[in-house]
Formats: sequence, C-alpha cells, structure tokens
Amino acid sequence: MNSKPTSFSNREPLWQSLKSESGSQWDVIIVGGGIIGAGVLREAARRGLKALLVEQRDFAWGTSSRSSKMVHGGLRYLAQGDLKLTRHSVRERERLLREAPGLVERIGYYFLLRKGQFPGRFVMGMVLSVYDMLAGIKDHYYVDKKTVIERFPGVENRDMKGACYYTDTAVDDARLVLRVLQEAIQAGGQVLNYVRAKNLIKTPSTENNAGGQVCGLLVQDVSFLEGEEAGEQLELRAPVVINATGAWADRLRSEVINEKRIRPLRGSHLVFPHKLLPVDAALTLFHPQDKRPVFIFPWEGATLVGTTDFDHQEDMDVEASITQEEVEYLLEILAIHYPGSKLGPEHVISSYSGVRPVIGSDKNKDPSKERRDDAVWAEKGLVTVSGGKLTTFRLAAINALDAARLWLKKPFSDASDDRIFTAPDTQFPRGSWLSRMGGRYGSNVEHLLAYAHEGEQDLIAETQFCLAECRWAARHEAVMHLDDLLLRRTRLGLLLKNGGEELFPEMEKICLQELGWDDIKWQNEVARYRLIWQKHYSLPLQ
Ligand SMILES: Cc1cc2nc3c(=O)[nH]c(=O)nc-3n(C[C@H](O)[C@H](O)[C@H](O)COP(=O)(O)OP(=O)(O)OC[C@H]3O[C@@H](n4cnc5c(N)ncnc54)[C@H](O)[C@@H]3O)c2cc1C
Repeated sequence: MNSKPTSFSNREPLWQSLKSESGSQWDVIIVGGGIIGAGVLREAARRGLKALLVEQRDFAWGTSSRSSKMVHGGLRYLAQGDLKLTRHSVRERERLLREAPGLVERIGYYFLLRKGQFPGRFVMGMVLSVYDMLAGIKDHYYVDKKTVIERFPGVENRDMKGACYYTDTAVDDARLVLRVLQEAIQAGGQVLNYVRAKNLIKTPSTENNAGGQVCGLLVQDVSFLEGEEAGEQLELRAPVVINATGAWADRLRSEVINEKRIRPLRGSHLVFPHKLLPVDAALTLFHPQDKRPVFIFPWEGATLVGTTDFDHQEDMDVEASITQEEVEYLLEILAIHYPGSKLGPEHVISSYSGVRPVIGSDKNKDPSKERRDDAVWAEKGLVTVSGGKLTTFRLAAINALDAARLWLKKPFSDASDDRIFTAPDTQFPRGSWLSRMGGRYGSNVEHLLAYAHEGEQDLIAETQFCLAECRWAARHEAVMHLDDLLLRRTRLGLLLKNGGEELFPEMEKICLQELGWDDIKWQNEVARYRLIWQKHYSLPLQ
C-alpha cells in the first residue's frame, strides 16, 4: 500500500500559514476550482512552481459538476467543420481512457435515423469515419431497426430506419476534478475551497512606473453559514494570477480590461430511474423544436436526459436551476420518442443545471452555433482561461501556463512525462467495481478500503457508491458542508429520491465522527442541504 494517503483536509493549518510573510508568497495563484483550474494547478505543481488554488464554493461546484458527463470528441464540432477542436478532443479522450480506467469509460452511442431525417445513414457514416480516424480507432457501424428496438425497449419504432453506432466516453465530472486535484496535491500544489478571490492586488504607480501590474490577490474565507460572522480576509502575493473562473471569468478580468467576452449559456438535465427509462447506451436524438441533438444516456445507475442551451440571464451568484420551459423541452423529446412510457415530472428523481462559459461572438447568434473552444487572455499579470470543455482541460491548462511565463519570476521546467494521472499501484480488471474505485481515488484507493467500517463497502440502492466513500471524503477531501458530500464527492444527491434523505442517519454518524460536527451543526447542514436541493436540484414549483 502507498505509505501515506493524499489528503485535501488541511484547510485550517493552510489558511493560518498564509498569514506569515513566506506563507503569503506564491509563484502562481489560480482562481477557480473547476476542471480548468485543477488542470492548471496540476501542470504548475509538476513543473516545480509553488502554486495555490482557491475556489469560492466547493471544488467542482461550478460548471464542472453539471456537464453531460461525456469526455467526448464532440461530433457536433466535426459536423460544424471544426476539425481542430474535434482532433484535440478525441485525442484527449483517448488519453483519459488510457490513463483513468474506472473513471473514464467508453460507452456506445446510437444516432437514431428516422425517415426524412438529415443527416441520414450515408452522411453520418462519412462523418463517423472521419471522427474515428482522428482518434485513431475504428468503432462505428450501422445497426438495423430490430437491433435498435432490442437495445432501447420502449423506443417509438414508427418511421425508424435504424441507427449509426459509434463510441465516446462517460465520466463522473466532479470526480474527474477531484482526481486531478489529488494529482496536483501529490505534486506539491495546495488547494482551498470556500475561499473567494475578492480583488486583484496591483502595483501602485510611481514616478517611473505606471503601476497597475497584478502582484497578488485579496481573498476571503467564505466557509461560514448564513447568519454567522463574515470570514477573514488575507492578502496573498504572486507575480501572476490565473483566472480559471469559467462562466465568471469576466468579473476578475474586468479589473484589468474593460471588455466582456463570456456568453453564459445554461444547460440542464433531468435524472430518471433506470428502470423507467432502461438504456445501457446513449441514444442521440434531434429535438423537433430547434433540431439540436439531445441525449438519453445511462449514468451511475440512472438515466439522464439532456441538455438544453439557453442564454443564462440570472444572477451568477445564485446557483443555476432548471426552468419550467426546459423541463417541458426535455419531456417533449421523451413524449415523441418514448410515447408509451408516459414519463412526466412525477418520475424525475432530480435535475441539475450548469452554465457553459462560451466565448461569445454575437449575442444574436443561435446559442448552439457558438464555438466551444477555449481562449486565453494575458493582461498585466492576469492570465484568464475560459471556454472549452471538460475533455480538453489539459490543453487549456498548458496554454494558460505558457501565457503566464511572461511574468513568472522563475523558469519552470517543461515536464518530461505528460501523463495527467500517475499510474495506479495496483491494476484492477477493467469494468470491475475496484477499477471504478481506482479511477476515482487513484493511489488512495487501498487506504479508502482499509478505512471502511463494517458493511460500508455495500453498494447503496441502484448506485455504485458506498458509505466507505462518504467516510473517506469526510476525512480526507475537504468536506465543509453536507452538499459537498452528497452532490460532488459522491453523486448520491442526484441519484436517490429526495436528494438521498434516506441516508441521513448514516451520513449523520459519519459527519459527527469524521468532521467533529455536533447535533446543532448537523441540523443546520440538513436545513442548508434541503434548501439547496429543493431550489436547484429538483423541479420548479408549479
Ligand atoms: C449543460 C452542460 C453540458 C456540458 N457537457 C459537457 C460534456 O459532456 N463534455 C465536456 O467535455 N464538456 C461539457 N460541458 C462543458 C464543461 O462542463 C465546461 O467547459 C467546464 O466544466 C468548465 O470548467 P471551468 O473550470 O472552466 O469552469 P467551472 O467548472 O465553472 O469552474 C470555475 C470555478 O470558479 C469558481 N469561481 C468563480 N469566481 C470565483 C472567485 N471570485 N473566487 C474563487 N472562485 C471563483 C466557481 O465557483 C467555479 O467553481 C458542458 C457544460 C454544460 C453547462
């Protein structure tokens, strides 16, 4: 067994250490604990930089826990003629598949063909040939109507011709972020959740110098609960700050330039019990309203339906939620393609919404036609990296770090090994539960299993999660609130009815034992969780 587990739970001592002269000095500070920020931290730490990441809520709280959970090439980008983005995406997908078995797994996709639909079999066949060629694989073929009906019980067979089969991959997005953070910490990076970057600190103007160069960051501890006293603020110093705040990126950037580039686009999903919508591969359908592709796909023992694509005009400080219009949009596709199932709001287990950090070109452009690649802007010691996808996070992180070279006071090495994930100590058979655990927890997996109490490795309901993961996360993964545990360290809050309330007795025991919470803290956390879940992870009240 690896001698020491990698733990994120050093928040308090780390915060205290930031108060000293040397503790407040960093080579680089990264703002934003989503996949891009995690990727930048990983790249910075492995290149020998003293690097700190701060996240205003929880790790992966932003868009990176609310995606369609696909590490994919993006067939849509290819259809739009964006060969470069597709090539980068499929190659990164293959890399992640190789390096993170159990976390990133290949799944089948069926692009359903109905009479009169464009593209048809011939065009899709050509597109898929290019798609596979870019990835260096050959994994697509045509399947007839009978096979589709067998694979997708209940799917409407009227006008159906067959389907084009291809493959992409599925991931637990929040766990991908946590796994990358774990790698970054192993390489010497430091992380703090519930710490908000309030303002950039800039050099003052002098006789010889106009000043205005970024030289640090004012941060605030925001781990307090509503009604408690506001948290402490600290000044941190670094010659360069990397703004990896995704859909929030214009905010920090506006302190160095008067320009807005992010077009926040909301996408939402509905979660159904697998038994009501039994699919073991993804079904790709076109929505009749706007001809956008919508997916019905298996994830973590449930079935997801999504996504939507709307301009998000809400307050970015408020967690995104699905609207009634989006619920109807998603139910409509089920009514058309699964008319017999009569699925309605009463069958939905949960919902979730995220805001895509899309680099906008024209606010009148159809949201779905906006490009989905990332952009890096380097201005006065602030490097902003936004846009893009989960899939290509490594490339975005490298670009951001390259742009930061300009201001870094010390040279950094070009890391010789470009693996994202260190090779596991033990190889588990691909597809097994242990492989899944290895993918999620890397070199911590054996510690996690050894640390489990009796019965805690039993799987919870229809999911692949177990209480041992909750205990581990509570002890080692910087859990500050109950929602961290149920919505991001595990995804039980999305997969179980009522946000997983049935687990509260076990959760209480674990939180009291591992986090030192008392009864009052537990009750406050339950109240906070219920509010969050009802407002942002269930359906809008009619
Ligand atoms: C509906 C939907 C489906 C998607 N599906 C896919 C998919 O299947 N595959 C794929 O590859 N991509 C997908 N994407 C895109 C992908 O999820 C995003 O591109 C990616 O997660 C963005 O990561 P990020 O790190 O840039 O942003 P985020 O994950 O949003 O991280 C930014 C973080 O910065 C924090 N922050 C903001 N301001 C501050 C501050 N002042 N101080 C400290 N922290 C701050 C936020 O709290 C947030 O956690 C999807 C996106 C959406 C919305």
